[in-house]
Amino acid sequence: MSQVPSLLPLEPPDDDFCRRLPKIELHAHLSGSITRPCLQRIWEARKGEDPDFDVPEPRLALADHSVGQGINEFFAHFNTYLYRILSTPSSLSVATHSVLTEFQADGVVYLELRTTPRALPPTAHTQGLTAEGAVRLILSVIKDWNTSSSPMHASLILTIDRIKHSPAQAMEIVDLALRLRDEGLPVVGVDLAGDCNTPRDMAPLRPAYAHAQAANLPITVHFAEVPNSASESELRELLTWNPRRLGHAIHVPEAMRRLIVDRGIAVELCLTCNVLARMLPSQHEEHEPGFVDHHFAWWWAEDCSLSLGTDDMGVFGSPSSQEYRLAAEHFALSRTDLVSLCRRAMRGAFSGLETRDHVEAALEAFESREGLGQPRPHSENPP
Ligand SMILES: [Zn+2]
Repeated sequence: MSQVPSLLPLEPPDDDFCRRLPKIELHAHLSGSITRPCLQRIWEARKGEDPDFDVPEPRLALADHSVGQGINEFFAHFNTYLYRILSTPSSLSVATHSVLTEFQADGVVYLELRTTPRALPPTAHTQGLTAEGAVRLILSVIKDWNTSSSPMHASLILTIDRIKHSPAQAMEIVDLALRLRDEGLPVVGVDLAGDCNTPRDMAPLRPAYAHAQAANLPITVHFAEVPNSASESELRELLTWNPRRLGHAIHVPEAMRRLIVDRGIAVELCLTCNVLARMLPSQHEEHEPGFVDHHFAWWWAEDCSLSLGTDDMGVFGSPSSQEYRLAAEHFALSRTDLVSLCRRAMRGAFSGLETRDHVEAALEAFESREGLGQPRPHSENPP
């Protein structure tokens, strides 16, 4: 098709543009990213293998969350239910492959998934897996994906649970991540996540993250998600761990935001998740905070690395392309701005040089196809 000069590059980004855009996704929990159709397929396969499989069918058990319950109740239900469906090696493997397929189909070119190492107990029909075995299984799916010349590169972050894991277990997870990385498997970092409503002193987990830091294994932490996990002492503690990225970063005092920008720490912002789960602070008494109230605007105006994350696409139902479109719609971002947002996201990625080159090539080809040729922003290079 011949190139016809058009004004399209000046039009606001629409759904199609956001799907075509080579996107970066850095905040996606593996289990929460599994879509309901995928869970239904896994359930049907398990029921076929074992008629006594007594987990209720997903299309009934996971009926529309807007009916009769809030998103937070649904989330808790989804998580509990999920682990009963994903309790065999084959279902975990199918689910991982499905999540990769969904992100790639949505136009993501670099994905960092995260998961908490969790053992699969043996069943009447299958052998179990240790937590390490389950992580190795996920990694084998990701490694095969990366070697099949797919347009999307993917890697894995191991999550430490802020409530469920002891300091010794946290250290074991860091050791596991380092061992797997040394074997050449695509483990790129460690995370801190889990129930943020229960306050806990984070200092005992510090040695595990210090170990990661000493071995140059990048750290991301869920940061100031809710007021209960946003005390000044907790936020200061987490910043001493030298995280490269912060997830959510909602209830952060202005002075600390400045410190984060000055230290070159990247933020992972989750628009739909924060709005649907009502995590944003109230600005007006009359109405619930919406997208336009999201703190995205503050970080966007700074010269910092920031990315848009889906958090749990299976729960919130919003793929990466929709997060980019929402940002464009509510913060008046142009098509060029969205490309720039992808580059700013990539500055915070934990990937190696080969993936950075892959993403940059995808963005340059996209700009050329879309007629968005612009001088390179000074901020494209990683710190
Ligand atoms: Zn998260």
